[in-house]
Parts: sequence; C-alpha cells; structure tokens
Amino acid sequence: MINNKELWENALVDIETSISRANFNTWFKNTSITKEDSGTLYVGVPNEFVKDWLQNKFHKLILKTLMSHSDNIRCVEYIIVKHEPVQKTALKTPTNNKELPLADLYINKEDNLNPKYTFNSFVVGPFNELAYAVAQAVIENPGTSYNPLFIYGGTGLGKTHMTQAIGNTIKAKYPNKKIFYVSLERFSIDYVNSLQNKTPNSFKEKYRKYDMIIMDDIQFISGKDKTQEELFHLFNTLYESNRQIIFSSDKHPNLIHGLEERLQSRFASGMTVQITEPDYESRIAIIRAKLESSNLVVDPEIISYLASSLEGNIRELEGSLNAVIMQSQLKNKGISVNEVRQLIKNNIKAKKTVAIKDVVKTIADYYEINESDIYDKTRRKEIVRARQVVMYILREDFNVSYPLIGQKLGGKDHTTVIHSYLKIKKDLQTDQLLVQEVEKIRMMFK
Ligand code: ADP
Ligand code: MG
Repeated sequence: MINNKELWENALVDIETSISRANFNTWFKNTSITKEDSGTLYVGVPNEFVKDWLQNKFHKLILKTLMSHSDNIRCVEYIIVKHEPVQKTALKTPTNNKELPLADLYINKEDNLNPKYTFNSFVVGPFNELAYAVAQAVIENPGTSYNPLFIYGGTGLGKTHMTQAIGNTIKAKYPNKKIFYVSLERFSIDYVNSLQNKTPNSFKEKYRKYDMIIMDDIQFISGKDKTQEELFHLFNTLYESNRQIIFSSDKHPNLIHGLEERLQSRFASGMTVQITEPDYESRIAIIRAKLESSNLVVDPEIISYLASSLEGNIRELEGSLNAVIMQSQLKNKGISVNEVRQLIKNNIKAKKTVAIKDVVKTIADYYEINESDIYDKTRRKEIVRARQVVMYILREDFNVSYPLIGQKLGGKDHTTVIHSYLKIKKDLQTDQLLVQEVEKIRMMFK
C-alpha cells in the first residue's frame, strides 16, 4: 500500500502531463493530501481561490487520476490548510529556477507580456521557419514591413510563444514603444465591461494609445458581433498610422466562422503565415533544448523514443517530457526507456480519443451543424454528407480503423463506415465543391 504522500505525488505526475505547465504551477503547487477517511480523500490547498479552481475546473481530472492510482478512493474534497510545502523537492520544476516556474506571476502589467517567452529558448525548424523569418522582419521594421502579421496553426504549436517573443524583443529594442498583448477574449470582456460601465471612450482611448498590439486567439471572435465592429475600427486606426498589429489564430482567417468579410480581408491584407506541427528533427531539437535548460542528461535513446512517439503538439510534448524529468528526479537516478514508455503510454492513448472528438467537432463546426447529429442516426442529406466526410478523414488522414470509427461515432457498423469512406473517395473524383470542402477541412487540422 502506498501512503497518501506517494499517492498524491504519483497523481501529480499524471496531472502535469495532461494540463499546461502554467496551470499546473498555478493550481497544484503547495497542495497535499491531508487525510483519507473511508474512501474520501482530503486535498489540502493554500487558499479559497485555489480551492474553487480545483473544485470547478479540475475536479474530474483529479478524481479520475486518483482513482486510477488507488482502488479505495471514492471522493475528493478540498480543504484549506496553512500549507506545509510537503512535496517541495518532488515538485521543484526542473528548469532554470529564475526562468520558468514563477514567470507567469511576473507578467508585466503595462504590456501584459510574459518575460518567459523569448527567442532564446525558441527552436526554429521547417515547421515554423517562415513565421520566424517574418517575425524577424517585423522586429526590424515594426508597422511597415508586414502589417498586420497573422500567424495561424493548431493548438500547442507555439503561437503564443512566438507572438509574445516578438513583443518582448521589440520592447527591448525600442524601449519607447508602447506594446500591448491581449487575448481576443480579454479584449471582448474589456469592451463589454466598458459598455456596461458606460465608459466606451476610455476603452477606445486605452487601445488606441499603443504602438503595437498583439491579439491572441482571434478565432474566438466568432459570434461576437459587437467586438468585431469595435476591432474593425481599432484596426483601421492603428493600421493607418503604421502601428504594428499581430494576430494569432488556430485557423486561417478565411476559415474563422462568422467573421465579417471586411475583417477577413483586413486580416489577410498583410502577411499570413502558418505554423505546422514540428517534424521529427525539430522535435528532437525541442526536447534537447528543454533538457538543456533543466541541466539534465538523458540517454539519447530516450530522446529519440520521445521524439518518435510524441507527435506534433509541443505543449503535450513538454508535458510528457516533464513527467519523465520529474520521475527521474523522484527516483534520483536515470530512467530506462521502458519506464518512459510506461509513463507516456496513457498520454498517447488519451490523445487518440480526444482526436476523434476533435475531428467530429471541427467538421461539424465547418458544416454548421450540431456535433450530436454526427453521432446520431439522422438521415438528413447535409448531415449524412458531413458524417461521411468525418469517416473519410478519420480513415484517410488519421488512420483510425473502420470498426473503431463505427464504434466512436455512435455505434455504427464497420460496413457502413467502409461504404461512407468509399463514397467520399469516389465523389472526390468528380465533385469540385467536395474537393474544396475537404481541402479546407484539412487545413484546419494542419
Ligand atoms: P499555442 O499558443 O500555439 O497554443 P504555445 O505558444 O502556448 O502554443 O506553446 C506551447 C508550449 O510549447 C509553450 O510552453 C511554448 O513555450 C512551447 N513552444 C512552442 N513553440 C516552441 C518552439 N519553437 N521552441 C521551444 N518551445 C516551444
Ligand atoms: Mg496560445
């Protein structure tokens, strides 16, 4: 039987691989298990704030993880304790101390930039080199060479890192320039608040005083009509006075749903570049860079194992790598390839099921139908078509087996899946509209 401390440490290793590091550091630091009482585990947290977050955002994950480590756990409760930093050594984030762990707390209030995002720690490879080159040009001539700069690509591929690194570099190079980083969601909330507080003018003034604005995750503008209107005017003001604007998005501007045409064409009027998934060599380079900053020597065999079994998403790659680092620190000795395999096995599995759901969601969104229709048996023509495209993409691009596709899409027979797959394959030879649709959908998974 493992004790509570070990149980929690093991659970934390898993949790860390499934959420972002910033989240992990913010919410799981200084937590501990205080006691266990007939199947209820009491997690000690430092304050009310953390308690609420764990309860509201991470409860399912915590419970599921603890249950996977111990058969006795039935429930989890959170209680505030004056914290004893129990796992301090185990949890020490294995990176350059002054750099990462607390960096999120040092976000500059003036510009919202997080100093941890720099180009020093940034790996450039075929997957992002075009974006990198354009970024350097923007740094040389902000506001004039490529304006706006629109960077898009899937989640965890480095958009936030790159755009913030541009901001930090420009800030160091031109100390007088006023820069501001904001997510579209934050911008929208600010705007709505200003309307409620009847202070729209101070909102407008605030955003119009910057020399450069970085707006992250602009895809969330879908359906926010008022925000679009406001952004359109802000954009024009900044643009006309040669002030640099940088957008990031998980999709190409033409594929952001409900984006007005005038904004679409503004977004695409400067330079639009994509970041794709890192290739094998780049993944090796990223892993090496992260290990270097943690001063840890790892068997090259483990590095290539990690690089070949973990794909794309750099955030996930970091998560798995952290788990490996943490595990070898816990054990205070090297870790074998086999142990690494065990450690990341769950991670890879989880990713596959997520991918199927994501594919369904993306394609349903694209066709503007309900996700649930894909899983149902509805025979409406446009739904049948979308469903067939889902099956086709899952098979053709993601290599999912016919039976698994059937099973995941609401228990359909594998012969139905094969039929759908072949139907789309055949139609693609004659139906130009379908060709375009599939092309656009594929771009969303790039
Ligand atoms: P996105 O905004 O596209 O979802 P992030 O910028 O948040 O992705 O990147 C995810 C994680 O991967 C971050 O921790 C970031 O520092 C790291 N990362 C991204 N790109 C690189 C890179 N080229 N080199 C090193 N680390 C990277
Ligand atoms: Mg981001």
